[in-house]
Amino acid sequence: MSSQLPQPEPNGDSRPYWDAAREGRLLIRSCTSCGRMHFMPRHLCPHCWSDVLQWVESRGDGVVHTFSVIHRAPTPAFAAGAPYVIAMIDLDEGPRMFANVIGESALAVRIGDRVKVTFEDRGDGARLPQFRRAED
Ligand SMILES: [Zn+2]
Repeated sequence: MSSQLPQPEPNGDSRPYWDAAREGRLLIRSCTSCGRMHFMPRHLCPHCWSDVLQWVESRGDGVVHTFSVIHRAPTPAFAAGAPYVIAMIDLDEGPRMFANVIGESALAVRIGDRVKVTFEDRGDGARLPQFRRAED
């Protein structure tokens, strides 16, 4: 995939997440009331509705919960990258993320594979947290 792809559009809830991604760090939200973590970034804990949240840095390790190989891209910007893999990744810290699996062996991905976060350049310093197979 290339910098022709869409850039992130941070909002008030997600700006720290995207700022960290520019630095190659994966931040996730942790609730100080119930202790659980979640993704996507939001202003209320989806488990207990507390608004007392903090940012914590994920190690970026996880496992493929499920995935799909996209052969027909939804928009022209993604066509050059097809076929490509979208996946639901269960981070070791708990949250489930939706991301691409990229890298040389991405199309060989299987449910249960160990994956590691990587940061895809989207131009102007913007980077998107993605995953690659741990064996890549
Ligand atoms: Zn909570």
